[in-house]
Amino acid sequence: MESKELKSIDLGFSEEQDSWLLTNRFFPSKIGGKAAWLELENIPDAKDLSCDYCNEPCTFLCQIYAAGTGKISHAFHRTIFVFICRNGKCCNINQSGNVKVLRSQLPLINKFYPDTPADESVEIEGIEPFCKVCNVCGCKGPMVCGKCKSVNYCGQHHQKIDWKSHKRSCGQESISKTNQIESCHFPEYEIVIEGEDNDTDTKAKRESDKESETRRFREYEDMIKEGKIVHNGDISEADMKDMDDTKEDKAFGKFKKAIESNPTQVIRYSRHGQPLWISSTGTLNKSNVPKCSNCNGKRSFEFQIMPQMLNDLKNYDLDWGIIAIYTCENDCNTNGKYIQEFCYKQDVTKADSDAFDVDIKKKLQISEDNCQINSKDEVRSPTTIEGTSKKAKTSKNNKDIASKVNSKKAFKECDNWE
Ligand SMILES: [Zn+2]
Ligand SMILES: [Zn+2]
Ligand SMILES: [Zn+2]
Ligand SMILES: [Zn+2]
Repeated sequence: MESKELKSIDLGFSEEQDSWLLTNRFFPSKIGGKAAWLELENIPDAKDLSCDYCNEPCTFLCQIYAAGTGKISHAFHRTIFVFICRNGKCCNINQSGNVKVLRSQLPLINKFYPDTPADESVEIEGIEPFCKVCNVCGCKGPMVCGKCKSVNYCGQHHQKIDWKSHKRSCGQESISKTNQIESCHFPEYEIVIEGEDNDTDTKAKRESDKESETRRFREYEDMIKEGKIVHNGDISEADMKDMDDTKEDKAFGKFKKAIESNPTQVIRYSRHGQPLWISSTGTLNKSNVPKCSNCNGKRSFEFQIMPQMLNDLKNYDLDWGIIAIYTCENDCNTNGKYIQEFCYKQDVTKADSDAFDVDIKKKLQISEDNCQINSKDEVRSPTTIEGTSKKAKTSKNNKDIASKVNSKKAFKECDNWE
């Protein structure tokens, strides 16, 4: 049934970046912080972004600037925004009500942005929304601080959270703007997009991969030390059955192979392509993707968020296998509104995770032998590799994948030392 993928694939990698370069002025693709809204008049309501399960406002996860082909004038600028509920209890297997996706588009000539790219050499602030926004999340802020009447909120929830810091400047002339609150924002990174086959600058790429891998590894270690990784023991009967049925899950094998040479990818972008499923169970049939809520036209796959992004979030309750995003095929005219798009979250079952475990153990055996010969002048040592696999066992299924993928890369690098 599955046809060979002909569409080109772009990969997104998370990299540290100065915050001012990630504001709307630069049309960024990024993870965390506040959403850098594209259209600035019809900012979404917190209601549009509340979790289906707990009704709390979702947190901004990431945005991808994916401009149209230029043929459609009303979609010269085009950004897809993804929000997620940070309550781990709302991460239900193969259910997506805790994730919200919005699409925003603008023509080149619009009232918010100049029609030439912003100068990246001069530090400059983002362009302020044309309406009142919540000081915490940046959504529409119809409520106002009763005392000073100069700070807005989307609702009581965020007003309460902000009070601790706002009370210090409430009523004073210069009101401090909220930048990062751990309970409301994820750490901020730029998402740098590259083609999957990049032979030309593989070397430079590998360096930055290594850097970010070191960073992730350190963060992961911290998570363990602080006891923030919790084992998710809730395995359903169905999963147990899956475990018996699957020795080596086909889709999972394909997934591993596809990401092998770029294991730190956080985004796989393939407009009108197909998602790379992480498991054969719980895949979504194309015919079950609902029509565009705006034009009733077809929606097609656009990109997926990889489990590796979990490492960047410093939130240890969240979990997913992949999050596949489907958008209107026609880039239909949003008329300045933020249009809800569709997403599907696929999770990793215990069976998948165990299959990978066996697989990785076999390989580690070999890699340890290889490494012993070469380890003295290399950054990676067998201890690092072993350490990674040990840690992975304490984590949840999907995070297992991300960390094991990294240890697999270490293995690959060992191979290259020969
Ligand atoms: Zn929730
Ligand atoms: Zn808010
Ligand atoms: Zn106030
Ligand atoms: Zn549409």
